[in-house]
Amino acid sequence: MVENVPLLSHHHDGLTIEGYSRAAVQTCWRLNELKLLFDVGVQPWDFMGTSTMFISHAHLDHIAALPAYVSRRRMMKMDPPAIYLPDSAVDTAWDMLQMFRRLDRGAMPCELIGLLPGDEISVSREYVVTTLPTQHTIDSVGFVVHQRRHKLKSEFQDLSGDQIRDLRIAGNEVTSEVRVPVFAYTGDTAPRGLDDNPVFYESKVLVSEMTFVAPEHRKEKIHKHGHMHVDDYRQRADRFNNELVIAAHLSTRYNAAQVKRFVQRALPDMLGGRLKLWI
Ligand SMILES: [Zn+2]
Repeated sequence: MVENVPLLSHHHDGLTIEGYSRAAVQTCWRLNELKLLFDVGVQPWDFMGTSTMFISHAHLDHIAALPAYVSRRRMMKMDPPAIYLPDSAVDTAWDMLQMFRRLDRGAMPCELIGLLPGDEISVSREYVVTTLPTQHTIDSVGFVVHQRRHKLKSEFQDLSGDQIRDLRIAGNEVTSEVRVPVFAYTGDTAPRGLDDNPVFYESKVLVSEMTFVAPEHRKEKIHKHGHMHVDDYRQRADRFNNELVIAAHLSTRYNAAQVKRFVQRALPDMLGGRLKLWI
């Protein structure tokens, strides 16, 4: 274990959410059980074993360690990773990797796959990731990880196990796929990124951004820069149907004690105890 990044970690219902996220510093996340990474502002050494990464947008604090991730995997003789990122960033990210190839004299084997809002990626038999439009100052997307579950079709609900088996043997499709949103990550976004994509409010776990918390920091300006304030959470308090809401990407203008104080003042019940500050 090499601890090169000050990670936080939280367990929820079989999911381990690990990451670090402060605005302008760096953002990275791992869901170890689902074998997924989100954003690569920094590359925790122990995250390199995960070969699927989703990048929300190409701001430096979310993408800067991409060459380190690709290069370290190659050095450790791991397969080239699959890296999904906004479509408009693919060519430039590729060029950046080639520049590092020239500087570092090491190959940069990876697959860069462009994403547009609405795209769906099947990451395993059980999980599919959907891409949602968010609102930031450059092209950006958010992600929802859905678990596919097979549910008996309602017309067969009253049949016995034997009858269902017979139908299945006769070639009938007795189940239909239902998708349960188990994890969502907005990346950086103004509140419209949440409001335009109600699935964010329905996902079991939501990781979003709360860059600003001080009352004197002006909302219009924050929204214009594609970010959110704790007051945006307060105004939407009854919309969050999530079991857990993680608020991350806090500005370096505040230390941890200030963040806690401002948030507790704005949201005294912390969304019914479901709000966790990532600080
Ligand atoms: Zn950011």
